[in-house]
Amino acid sequence: MKIICVGRNYAEHAKELNNPVPDRPVVFMKPPSALLVNNKPFYYPDFTQDLHYEAEVVLRIGKNGRHVQPEFADAYYDHIAFGIDFTARDLQEECKKKGQPWEIAKGFDGSAVVSAFFPMEELHRREGVAFKLRKNGELVQHGHTRDMLFSFNDIIVYVSKFFKLQVGDYIYTGTPAGVGPVQIGDTLEGFLYLGERFEHVLTCDIR
Ligand code: MG
Repeated sequence: MKIICVGRNYAEHAKELNNPVPDRPVVFMKPPSALLVNNKPFYYPDFTQDLHYEAEVVLRIGKNGRHVQPEFADAYYDHIAFGIDFTARDLQEECKKKGQPWEIAKGFDGSAVVSAFFPMEELHRREGVAFKLRKNGELVQHGHTRDMLFSFNDIIVYVSKFFKLQVGDYIYTGTPAGVGPVQIGDTLEGFLYLGERFEHVLTCDIR
């Protein structure tokens, strides 16, 4: 399976990192070994001094496809989850400065945290999904997918031009403003607006 990620998909987040607002999706990948599931703790790696959380809505691909046309795009994802795109911000800045790829800053072990998946409801397709992240009980990020620069369907269409979408692939759809560092001992909690209220769907302790 592939873990496809979209960067800078919320204008306010692009601005907070002094990045230009992109005119097409910024796409990168993490290897399957980056996955961290079942609320397992995350062990702070020794190659970074500036590990950041990025709260994101994750799509699960439900149908194989390439060169997907816009009018069919929403048939290709059927479940959503809450995810954290852990980023070694110091390494990423270094890579960006040198014009190098981001993998070591974004694709390391445990960097793709994901909750259980929930069926994509009609309401979510129509109106989008709200989500939020708490750090040690305090709200640090809240977003709504209607604020994405590139919608779920836009992402499906764009990504499938380059990479065949396969059942079971995940797509991290970008983070809103409010990213920040974590320290050993912190607890992150993710919430998705499902049905009629926010549900606590993910816990991640930093060890
Ligand atoms: Mg991200």
